Amino acid sequence: MRSVTDCLNNLKSKGFKLTLQRLAVIEHLEGNQKHPSAADLYAEVKKKYPMISFATVYNTLKILNEAQEIKQLTIGFDKVNFDPNTKPHDHFFCRECGRIIDIFPEKRMGVKEIDGHRINECQVYYYGICSECMKAKKKKKEKTHT
Ligand SMILES: [Zn+2]
Ligand SMILES: [Zn+2]
Repeated sequence: MRSVTDCLNNLKSKGFKLTLQRLAVIEHLEGNQKHPSAADLYAEVKKKYPMISFATVYNTLKILNEAQEIKQLTIGFDKVNFDPNTKPHDHFFCRECGRIIDIFPEKRMGVKEIDGHRINECQVYYYGICSECMKAKKKKKEKTHT
């Protein structure tokens, strides 16, 4: 998703109906770097639009995915997450805090072909402990040592 306007034009050109509730979901996704799940997004949008249903949020995500305005991530173990940033990048999943963080390994970005296979798209998931959790761990350790 580049911008809400571009996204709406794209949906319109593909024949999807735009309702206020769908628009609310799209607005919450613009620039969102938290990679929300459908449930996360529902909780967020509901704060502003108490009338919205989970089905509406879910269906809007489905439409946006079909229109290639968002990416679907299966990095978590029990849920699907969504990313409005459709530019190529990888994801890091922190096993401590559960955050999904964008990472941009420079080297991999230019790869267009591997073993004669042409690559259109690539999604890589990394798992580990994020820098913030590492810092917190270190602090805890220091405290217990003094
Ligand atoms: Zn973490
Ligand atoms: Zn991302």
